[in-house]
Amino acid sequence: MATSYKPSVLFRKALDRSLAVTACALAACATPPPEPASAPATAPASKPAPPPRPKAEIGAWGVDVSGIDKAVAAGDDFERYANGGWLDRFTIPADLSTYGVFVQLGLDAEGDVRTILQDLSQEEHEAGSIEQKVGDAFAAWMNTEAIEARGLAPLKPHLDKIAKLRGRTAIADAFATLHNTSPYGMGIIPNPADTTQYIVFAAQDGLGLPDRDYYLKDEPRFEQYRAAYLKYIETMLGLAGIKRPKSKAKRIMSLETKLAKAHWTQAESRDIKKIYNPMSPAALAKLAPEFNWPAALKKMGLDAVKTIVVAQPTAIQASGKIVRKTRLGTLRDYLTFHFIRNHATVLPKAFDDGHFDFYRKTLRGIEVQRERWKRGVNLINDGMGEAVGKIYIKRHFPPAAKQQMDELVANLIAAFRERLQQNDWMDEQTRQQALTKLSTFEPRIGYPDKWIDYEPLTVSDDAFANARAIREFQWQDQVKRLAGPVDRKLWPYPPQTVNASYNPLLNQITFPAGILQPPFFDPKADPAVNYGAIGAVIGHEIGHGFDDQGRRFDEMGKIRDWWTEASDEAFNQRTEMLGAQYASYEPIEGMNINPKLTMGENIGDLGGVQMAHAAYRRYLSSCCNGEAPVINGVTGDQRFFLGWAQVWRAKYREDEARQRLTTDPHSPPRYRIIGVVRNVDAWYDAFGVTAENKLFLPPGERVRIW
Ligand SMILES: [Zn+2]
Repeated sequence: MATSYKPSVLFRKALDRSLAVTACALAACATPPPEPASAPATAPASKPAPPPRPKAEIGAWGVDVSGIDKAVAAGDDFERYANGGWLDRFTIPADLSTYGVFVQLGLDAEGDVRTILQDLSQEEHEAGSIEQKVGDAFAAWMNTEAIEARGLAPLKPHLDKIAKLRGRTAIADAFATLHNTSPYGMGIIPNPADTTQYIVFAAQDGLGLPDRDYYLKDEPRFEQYRAAYLKYIETMLGLAGIKRPKSKAKRIMSLETKLAKAHWTQAESRDIKKIYNPMSPAALAKLAPEFNWPAALKKMGLDAVKTIVVAQPTAIQASGKIVRKTRLGTLRDYLTFHFIRNHATVLPKAFDDGHFDFYRKTLRGIEVQRERWKRGVNLINDGMGEAVGKIYIKRHFPPAAKQQMDELVANLIAAFRERLQQNDWMDEQTRQQALTKLSTFEPRIGYPDKWIDYEPLTVSDDAFANARAIREFQWQDQVKRLAGPVDRKLWPYPPQTVNASYNPLLNQITFPAGILQPPFFDPKADPAVNYGAIGAVIGHEIGHGFDDQGRRFDEMGKIRDWWTEASDEAFNQRTEMLGAQYASYEPIEGMNINPKLTMGENIGDLGGVQMAHAAYRRYLSSCCNGEAPVINGVTGDQRFFLGWAQVWRAKYREDEARQRLTTDPHSPPRYRIIGVVRNVDAWYDAFGVTAENKLFLPPGERVRIW
């Protein structure tokens, strides 16, 4: 669940997104749909016994009771209490680096999308139709014989071109080429100064390892990653028939290490105040003349642009200087290696295997490569996701689900409004601004009203060519919108995605069909569970509008400081307390949670659960005089917190966990559970938690922000 003001760099987006399920905190698709409910989740339940209700998809009331470990006191370790049974029994499949509810739903959706693709392949389709494009792209990806038969032929013209680059201008031109890697990346977002218009941004880029820390951290495991990366560079160059791969690998590594030193940290790069640096193309050309910006912008189709937001100016500037001091031969080798890397998964098996060995096995701890069709499904989801999504929602998203979600979202917003009105640390002026901002929130549920037009995309029976065509299409699709007003109807991902997000520039919260399933949302589950699960997710996304970065945007999505000094200080006091709590958690020996990197998500989680609990209380007072039925001896509040804890049950391989601690703005799932509940008074009451328990915090140390 990401805040998306820091958009992914679209230009030169890495090709291998086919493992999105394991690559992102949250990803791909969905399970078969819950049947439309016979009674809405918000229907009144009579007292004292609950009415007979249709069976929830998980357990009797929406929670996997067999996953609970009652041997542990809830107040000592709420993750173990809620999920201990599952944690003990479950083993991560060999082809995955992590497993949890997100992955599980993603795998279900993968299967659903596969069925759609298979159905499409059995029908005749008009050439140029979207069905033909999707079907052919999948078939080309699956045709490994053809990929093997083409061998190095697809690579050759491109590598020859790089080998012939002469002079600094030619190198700068290559850096501005979509399929190459370069020290900067480009993207297009709504302009934070006027969110009705788009603006171009430039950001640091150009590393083959996940983050600067991987080059610089003085720890044994990171040293091993570096050694393996060196070997990987050598392998890729060798496979492509490049001479002296070993010495070239060393020089490429040395260049990237210099770039890494110039890069900003992940925490700095999510600070909107620091990364919002608008400048003219002339100023950018002065900042880093080595990249020959006038020609580069022209090449990228951005020559009419008047302003560019430069996310990390010092990094771009330093990268230019590093490039200037690097020998042309090394720069050609760097471009050559990354070109191969960017296309490795659509080249013969040896490349694909080498890529897997390093990026999946070494960096994430995954044991075996995923089945090819699964990777193909993810390729389609990433490249032409909405084309499949249109069919997916017809099959898997009943209209009744949309209606119930509308109600849940409305209740969450109402609960938050009430909490803002009662908030005791904000002054009146700031409160009014916050209420104004809340009133402009736009929820989007299920699927987009307007779909991406894939007309300009050409697909053939050549997987290599298709990968490039998709990347070009995605970039051109952005560039063509640049001149016009911001299209508020676009979605950041297809509806089969298991995720949710907030975009502070547009003040939109988005919940795709993929996440609107058990255990997040089940129309037949007990309302307490729905409020604790999807309700807290909705609250989390609303909370992003008011987290440490989101609060810097106003109701129009503009960056504007609408906070009085006193409210600003009161907010910071609270977030510092919360940050100190998270900084004390050590998920891997020697690696604590980075409180600055995870601050926004932690605020989202805490606010989300508190907001959802208030919304659940509102619901109870509207239906049942404020009292929840007890089901199988479990109270309403207990079910609420179990709902939250069970959507975050997850396991990680250690390398994966290390990578996420370095780069992921979300805290590890265990801390999304225990780090939150110990700050919520209602949790103490629900489980009888006292000062004797390990997770106990004295009331004065519990953080309440929203
Ligand atoms: Zn989030």
